[in-house]
Amino acid sequence: MFMHTKAANTVYVTRRENARPQAPLLSVIVPVFNEEEVILHFLRATRPVLERSGLRYEYVFIDDGSRDRTADILSEELANGLPGRLLGLSRNFGKEAALSAGLEAAKGDIGVIIDADLQDPPELILQMLDGWRAGYDVVYGLRVDRSSDTLMKRSTAGMFYSLFNRLANIDMPANAGDFRLIDRCVIDALLRLPERNRFMKGLFAWVGFPAMALPYERPPRLAGAGKFNYWKLWNFALDGLTGFTTLPLRVWFYGGALISVGAFTYALYLTLRVLIEGIDLPGYASLMVALLFFSGVQLLSIGMIGEYVARLFNEAKQRPVFIVQDVIEGGNTPQSAKQ
Ligand code: UDP
Ligand code: MG
Repeated sequence: MFMHTKAANTVYVTRRENARPQAPLLSVIVPVFNEEEVILHFLRATRPVLERSGLRYEYVFIDDGSRDRTADILSEELANGLPGRLLGLSRNFGKEAALSAGLEAAKGDIGVIIDADLQDPPELILQMLDGWRAGYDVVYGLRVDRSSDTLMKRSTAGMFYSLFNRLANIDMPANAGDFRLIDRCVIDALLRLPERNRFMKGLFAWVGFPAMALPYERPPRLAGAGKFNYWKLWNFALDGLTGFTTLPLRVWFYGGALISVGAFTYALYLTLRVLIEGIDLPGYASLMVALLFFSGVQLLSIGMIGEYVARLFNEAKQRPVFIVQDVIEGGNTPQSAKQ
């Protein structure tokens, strides 16, 4: 019988010194939604960097239901020999779903997730590759300067990160976006997660693996408009929180316990007062306040439960996260080193 025992002095290094494939294939995963204005600039900026890397590479574009010429432009480029493919989703499923589609379609030993609007500087890919060669399975871009975002967006994002990290039992680095390099083992791990609620930043953190941060300054969007408004971001944050912590559900138990103790003490006080001072009947104000307060608490807690029930409902339906309408293959699609 084999027994696996750990030596007492086992040291868990933060990175692995394992051998990397000699000629890895790099998949550049790009979700695009109405990016006709920037997509050619994006190609012009990224291709030289990829060529310089010396690696074999492929683009994996996910057209997330664009209603402009984005898909036409990309299919033309692919027909002209751009390596990789374009997945056309059947409608706009959102960036998270598009990323899941991209991860599934990527054939590389390494994946790099990057936005099409050049807010993620392509030159960083080379540094990410250095990190990968040094043994890190995840190299994520860390936005040190978010001055291109509005003050409101920065402060709400800051609040979200601190709340998330306090409530969920995983460490999600603040100000890390989706821009990152991930090794094949991380892609495979992500593909094994069956949930429909794809809060990718959380999932990236949840799967773990040795990770390295690469600080960078995030420039403003090259052209076109950002696709997220505050209502979307709020719902995105709710998705993130409910997907990774059940504390908002459980907290009512303690809230309820505390209120019960308070109510019991108050009842005791009232009884004693009646016994000592005799009966009097004012109390409209306190009754009203207590009534409104507890109705509020109850509605709030029911609403919280509702958030989770709604998500349970969505998961229970087992619908796919996205639907691929068509796939357009590009020039010479290189094979993975492992095949
Ligand atoms: N995107 C997408 N589906 C969407 C919204 C955005 O695929 O429903 C893509 C978009 O084309 C871009 C990336 O996600 O490549 C980031 O979008 P955006 O620049 O609007 O986000 P921000 O930079 O404000 O986070
Ligand atoms: Mg952007």
